[in-house]
Amino acid sequence: MIDLVHQSEHQAPVCLWIAQHIEAINAQLTRYLQACHDCFHTWEQPTIQIFAAPLARSFGLDAFCNFQTKPISILIDVGRMKPKNWLLAVVHEYAHAHVGSPGHDQAFARSLTHLCLGLGIVPPQSLSEDRLRCYPNYLPTPNSLAFWRGETEDWRLSVTNSYFSSESLS
Ligand SMILES: [Zn+2]
Repeated sequence: MIDLVHQSEHQAPVCLWIAQHIEAINAQLTRYLQACHDCFHTWEQPTIQIFAAPLARSFGLDAFCNFQTKPISILIDVGRMKPKNWLLAVVHEYAHAHVGSPGHDQAFARSLTHLCLGLGIVPPQSLSEDRLRCYPNYLPTPNSLAFWRGETEDWRLSVTNSYFSSESLS
């Protein structure tokens, strides 16, 4: 599932960049995860860990909720979307974790709508599985490799002034 780090020409810059930045990125994702938790009562909150990772292209997903692990693991390829959209990917995967299944059925729609309303995101208008599969929408970045090689703008510039910045939560 994890790619890039095994391709020899990218291995050194990608691994070096990850080593220096992954902790701060995972901390940001954990803030978003907590924002999702805060939409539910304590007893309704699934136990989840969340990590950023470069996912293999062949896998065909930007983010993934793994129910095989304990706790449930959410993996997000943060290089595939603009930093200001990371929350949207977390919300989608959290809804899966909350329902406890990878499907995009009506139970998923209810959880997703609840999260959207709680977090000020426009809730899904269509409840068809095809639409829910990629909701909330975000524009993919042209080249996820650039992010993992540290060649894009510093992600902290995009999230620092947002509602979920570390300043406003501390
Ligand atoms: Zn999904």
